[in-house]
Amino acid sequence: MISTQLNSVQQHQTGNVDANEIDKFSQLAHKWWDKESEFKPLHDINPLRLTFIDSYAHLANKKILDIGCGGGILTEAMAKAEAQSVTGIDLAKKSLKIAQLHALQEQLSNISYRLISAEDMASEMSAAFEVITCMEMLEHVPDPGSIVRACGKLVQPGGIVCFSTINRNPKSYFQAIIAAEYLLKLTPRGTHDFRKFITPAELARLCRQAGLEWLGCSGFTYNPLSKQYRLTDSMDVNYMVACRRP
Ligand code: SAH
Repeated sequence: MISTQLNSVQQHQTGNVDANEIDKFSQLAHKWWDKESEFKPLHDINPLRLTFIDSYAHLANKKILDIGCGGGILTEAMAKAEAQSVTGIDLAKKSLKIAQLHALQEQLSNISYRLISAEDMASEMSAAFEVITCMEMLEHVPDPGSIVRACGKLVQPGGIVCFSTINRNPKSYFQAIIAAEYLLKLTPRGTHDFRKFITPAELARLCRQAGLEWLGCSGFTYNPLSKQYRLTDSMDVNYMVACRRP
């Protein structure tokens, strides 16, 4: 059943949220499902990341949490991969409304959405999910370590946590900001702040500190000529990681 909990705005936010980021995504919320919009890159990479996540997490029949779910692009794909249930959480209310409506249209009965932070969710429940995804979100929060720690609490022992984010180096500055935002105009200007990018070594340390064991990783890259994304061994720019709670 589609959750109606969107109306119960959480009273206890942890403060690990950048209001400008939430505002930015809220303003674009009506475009989440327009595949030619600012969200085109997320639609385009969705099959790649679904394949990556499923190869570690075997989504069918799993209880899944999608942190920073936005309009539900990945959330829905995981629901359609026959998850037992997928809960999407985000702090942008407008995005969640869009996500909720879209899931209704798609008649997905195994999805629910909640306006709650990962940290508040972790203090409300622990070891509640078999799989957690947190894609393209860590680079939008003030303290990514706090999100990773929340994931470590929310996932069951033996469960899988997948992250994706953007590496921080001159190449990622050129590709993810100069090329994507200015030259190719794949994403709106100001989508990303270089200082918030996270190196794989930094993410590995955050995962270790959260009690998560690194299982594997993959990069993905965009070819402006073919306009296609593909998986690559290089983690220089965009990359995904799969971890396990022992
Ligand atoms: N994970 C989705 C959306 C990525 S866009 C996908 O990959 O398709 C980043 C999302 O993170 C936005 O929806 C934004 O509202 C959300 N976000 C930013 N800061 C957040 C926070 N502190 N807590 C929860 N969600 C947050």
